[in-house]
Amino acid sequence: MGGTFNPIHYGHLVTAEEARIQFNLDRVIFIPAGDPYYKKGQKIVTAQQRYLMTIMATGSNPYFYVSRIEIDRHKPTYTIDTLIELNKIYKDSQFFFITGADAVLDILTWKNPDDILNLCTFIAATRPGYDMSKIDEIKKKLKDEREITNINTKIHIIRIPALAISSTDIRNRVKEGKPIRYLLPEGVVNHIYKMGFYKE
Ligand code: NAP
Repeated sequence: MGGTFNPIHYGHLVTAEEARIQFNLDRVIFIPAGDPYYKKGQKIVTAQQRYLMTIMATGSNPYFYVSRIEIDRHKPTYTIDTLIELNKIYKDSQFFFITGADAVLDILTWKNPDDILNLCTFIAATRPGYDMSKIDEIKKKLKDEREITNINTKIHIIRIPALAISSTDIRNRVKEGKPIRYLLPEGVVNHIYKMGFYKE
């Protein structure tokens, strides 16, 4: 389960649980992104703090784990490097990469997209009202340009009503002094206020 998790919220948690059940996964490993190269210069809460909030949010689910694999890399984090590392740790395992559908749309700009698609199956989570034609377009591109013939078995879509919640909205709400309680686990809400995150 890859994401920036800035901050983690119930939409992410419902996505992970839904993917686990639908795809019969043994576990879901949340991997907070370290230092996304394309977000350089943007003000983001430190990787360590996003990792801590992810630990707080996932602790009560016995199938959920959190990995430091990307935040300890201390250089731009690429999904391909993470998948190669995971393959070494969990030998003979089948990997599913769960993330937001909009992130998956950009996969052709990622490092080594063909290798990524060889190493994992994508589970792309969509918000209510999501324009599915965008996914069809990227699937067509992958099929035509990269000659990936089994694309429908490589990118699965799951619709998650709880993804009406978004990290961007939560950050904006804090900035505007609006409540965020019940959009994310209470411990994380308290931590955000205690640390003064997202105030500006
Ligand atoms: P993002 O652009 O911040 O998010 C795109 C959309 O997807 C947002 O609407 C976001 O909503 C949603 N989203 C993100 N993670 C999600 C998750 N786990 N479950 C459900 N919705 C999710 O995307 P990002 O967080 O930076 O990147 C997502 C993943 O793709 C990360 O693991 C990242 O490392 C990987 N990635 C890799 C490369 C590369 O290898 N070159 C490039 C880009 C991204 P919220 O804001 O509410 O989360």
